[in-house]
Amino acid sequence: MSTTNPTFFDTNFVSENQQILLPILEEKKVALFIKREDLIHPIVSGNKFRKLKYNLQEAKKLKKKAVLTFGGAYSNHIAATAVAGKLVGLKTFGIIRGDELGKNLPQTIAENATLKVAQDHGMKFHFISRELYRQKSSFGFIEKMKNKWGDFYLIPEGGTNCLAVDGCQEILTPQDAAFDYVCASVGTGGTLAGLIKSLKKKQKVIGFPALKGNFLSEEIKKYTIKNNNWSLKKDYHFGGYAKYNKELIIFINKFKADTGIQLDPVYTGKMIFGILDLIEKDTFKEGAKILAIHTGGLQGIAGINNLLKQKEEPLINVL
Ligand SMILES: *Cc1c(COP(=O)(O)O)cnc(C)c1O
Repeated sequence: MSTTNPTFFDTNFVSENQQILLPILEEKKVALFIKREDLIHPIVSGNKFRKLKYNLQEAKKLKKKAVLTFGGAYSNHIAATAVAGKLVGLKTFGIIRGDELGKNLPQTIAENATLKVAQDHGMKFHFISRELYRQKSSFGFIEKMKNKWGDFYLIPEGGTNCLAVDGCQEILTPQDAAFDYVCASVGTGGTLAGLIKSLKKKQKVIGFPALKGNFLSEEIKKYTIKNNNWSLKKDYHFGGYAKYNKELIIFINKFKADTGIQLDPVYTGKMIFGILDLIEKDTFKEGAKILAIHTGGLQGIAGINNLLKQKEEPLINVL
């Protein structure tokens, strides 16, 4: 396990664009590349690196000793914040949804790879009910946490704020101006907002929400008022956040066998499934060049595989 690397967030990572070769792409004369942001770090990968970068630099600048953030029990953001905090020398506090998980912590940790990674990197947890979780951003609750733990730098759920959007504007490079479309998975929309803001003329962003609902457009517009170079494709959430079916799992395994690229079932698997489905349905003109951002999230596979195992269903193949 990684320990400390105070300059980790000073690094300007430029991820490789890997061309995908599949018969459907040849048939439809569409070029698809995947930007391998997943390779930045095994846990602080993809957009989580981008979203944490300026937030952790800000926390340091403000001389904070700790950061506090929120998430579900399988949250990529929770795992990334814990590992990143350890790397740069900040304590981390995680407010986790689900008070039942706190009743027997050793058992919870034994069964949950995400929380184990977070705990192994020093994160302290506070488990709260789903009801209380809805009020987690209230002044009263934050004050209570300050009384419990002392001062901290607050990072919102999913890590999205203005500094996170700034970080996500560094995903695309000048060379990426050659693409017609940039695609990414959408959770809170922070990553998409950064991509939208860094787009060149004539390029378009397509977002693939990993969850149900119509609130995401509003969230994205908060950061991108002036832009209309983007759209959301809302048919690929597979039932909602962290929901999946056999078709998705089989797709992820087949894509891995065909291309060597591992996708996750919560975000990137749904996006690539959606892109290939849209290509199949002739949504893109001949000659179109598409860049899909691999936002990482591979740490979450262990948790889903645990659930699949309990249901005696086919697992996601990992190396
Ligand atoms: C968190 C996450 C997302 C969603 O990013 P937002 O900025 O919240 O929209 C997408 N993909 C992966 C792998 C993630 O971990």
